[in-house]
Amino acid sequence: MSTIASTTHNLDTYDPATLEHKWQEAWRAAEISSAPDPQPDRDNTYVFVTPPFTSGDAHMGHIRSYTIGDAYARFRRCCGDAVLFSLGFDAFGLPSEIAAHEHGMSPAEWVSHCRDRMCAQFGRLGISFDWERVFVSSDPTIYRWSQWLFLKLYEVGLIYQHDGQVEWCDSCRTVLANLQVEDGKCWRCETPVRFVSRTQWHLRRSAYNEENANNLTNLTSWSATAVAAQRAILGCTSGVEFDAYGLDGSVLTVFTTFPEAIGEGRFVLLSPNFPEIATWSSSPGVEDELALIRHGGGQRADRKEAGATVIDTGLRVQIATVPEPLPVLISPSVDARVGPTALLGIPSLDATDKAIADTYSEHPTLAWRAAKRQLSVRPATRYRAADFTISRQRAWGAPIPVVYCPDCGVVPVPLQDLPVQLPEDLDMTSEGNPLDRHEGFLACPCPQCGKPARRESDTLDCHIDAAWTELPLAVPPDDRSRGLFEHGDLQRWLPVSQLVHGADTGGFILNMRLVAKALRDADVLDCIPDGEPFTKALMHEMVQLNGRKMSKHLGNVIAPQELIEQFGADAVRFAILLAAAPARSFSWDDHALRYCARFLKELWIFAAPRLAANPRVLELSSIDTADRQRSRLEMWCAVACEKVTANLQALEMHQATRNIIRLFGRLEDFEQRVIARRGELATLDEDAVAAALMLLVRLLSPLAPHIAEELWQLGGGTGMIADARWPSPPANRSALPREHKPAATHTREV
Ligand SMILES: [Zn+2]
Ligand SMILES: [Zn+2]
Repeated sequence: MSTIASTTHNLDTYDPATLEHKWQEAWRAAEISSAPDPQPDRDNTYVFVTPPFTSGDAHMGHIRSYTIGDAYARFRRCCGDAVLFSLGFDAFGLPSEIAAHEHGMSPAEWVSHCRDRMCAQFGRLGISFDWERVFVSSDPTIYRWSQWLFLKLYEVGLIYQHDGQVEWCDSCRTVLANLQVEDGKCWRCETPVRFVSRTQWHLRRSAYNEENANNLTNLTSWSATAVAAQRAILGCTSGVEFDAYGLDGSVLTVFTTFPEAIGEGRFVLLSPNFPEIATWSSSPGVEDELALIRHGGGQRADRKEAGATVIDTGLRVQIATVPEPLPVLISPSVDARVGPTALLGIPSLDATDKAIADTYSEHPTLAWRAAKRQLSVRPATRYRAADFTISRQRAWGAPIPVVYCPDCGVVPVPLQDLPVQLPEDLDMTSEGNPLDRHEGFLACPCPQCGKPARRESDTLDCHIDAAWTELPLAVPPDDRSRGLFEHGDLQRWLPVSQLVHGADTGGFILNMRLVAKALRDADVLDCIPDGEPFTKALMHEMVQLNGRKMSKHLGNVIAPQELIEQFGADAVRFAILLAAAPARSFSWDDHALRYCARFLKELWIFAAPRLAANPRVLELSSIDTADRQRSRLEMWCAVACEKVTANLQALEMHQATRNIIRLFGRLEDFEQRVIARRGELATLDEDAVAAALMLLVRLLSPLAPHIAEELWQLGGGTGMIADARWPSPPANRSALPREHKPAATHTREV
């Protein structure tokens, strides 16, 4: 015990900046947040938060997410678990590239600058990340494994090349993933997005849609909103499918959600992304029209609108219970409804179909001799979550490890040749992709035949980098350069015990679930047999300002750093936890922050002199309860202990903050009542106050760790509170009101 505790205090003044800096240094020196080596009697708990883009400063969304994660990590450490809690930075991609350009730095310089700056900001907030394990995805020792993952997924057919329709931002001059398109606009610059045709690398997300949807019912430890977000992204629709027949006997499988109304079908709609579209678009002129849709005729925003672009293929199909053969139309509206499939159009039941029927003028029906067929209807499911493109025409990304040989065609780079390094001398300021003009990068011998060949100049979308971020964190940094995916520590830490993610990152989580299943099926990740990388998940809503999402281009961003400097890290943490249940978004205002800053100050002014005057470790059970007031105080302490413990275990941090504030009120009330009755506190009363305060600061320590640590030292606590054992309610529970059942977590003793 420490030189630290011997700091002289002005006990009347709460000075958050001084004590917060002091404890942040002390925690680092004591390595309280380092993931410990395995011990037979300790549970392993892996707390995972989603990676930030390294495009600038920490924002309020990070603060909310990481404070919730940190409170849980600190709580589990005190419960005796070996905790892994660290952070990977999503460092590749356009946001970093553009921000680097704006700041006159190379992307690599910018990323390392942002990592240092954001780590300092998270450290200043008291987030107890294992700093040794923090990584940036643009580090070659990390992205070589993104390339390895690419090759693995390519080998098993989950990554494929496809000359398809992709979404293009004219301003950013790049193809976008679905996730990067919001309301038909580029996520970054808000330029309306249009379709273009291009050979792209795609991730076969559809291969795991069914398992990812079915497993949701088993994820009983996920928050309801986290499950709902997965369901919404998967866009699962149940219905039936049946066969329709072309004049030449060709079969088209058609989907509908109205099995009872098949007879009312008036046309069949094909998504432009329907896998068999080529079979149905070969009539003269149709290919051109389809190309037009893809090259800009079909603005993405049209998709859901009535009267969306429709192409008549000129072809008809016969459906057994429909008297007339139905025209086959191509419509982008299908994707937004049921994904890349063939859909029966029923104008009498569906508004979009009605709008199409109103604008579509039917060609005369061809002479038709229908074969007599039975309608065979099968239950079927369709998913909106389609395969998506994972290649980008920008240089700030992991090079796709593929070589084009004139003789051998597409040749994967051998695993032992990874990483394919990104050149350091790229001119990132020019238009388009500088890798396309970098001869030293492009020219290479074919890995198969040795003849001159060319490297792929597209780079991997950062969604792939982010789709396995939980794995590098579980491996010690020195071991990452060799055999990361085979490392024994993955067995120890996976699946992740607790995921905390924001409502805007559900798509990332779905990708992580997909990659985990793909790796399991490739016999790489056998430690998660059900392919689910997250045992528990909490999704929190966003922090808004004046009812709107905070965003740079709306100019309504609050800088957390300024709040921390003004009010202290503990007040910001406590306020963001208190403000709302995780499932609720809330509009930030300084009211809650001022309230919390005042609470912590009042707590300090009450607790510091009392603990300093009575610095002995007093257990709650040592309170002499012969007196009725002391007995009541003991009961309220026991209730608070139970409730806060249960709140923290359930990540109901807003409830934990309220229960702590309530306990403080009881404590003040106790003193006032005793003094009102007897004029002054007896020694036993003072002991009871000190014991109750020491309990309170322990309950507070995951939420506002700095003030809790300082008060713990003043009260004569042993060691650091960050390492101290979590308090249990007294064994004698007769004093407890009946409704307070012991929480399951209380059985844990260290
Ligand atoms: Zn853009
Ligand atoms: Zn070759």
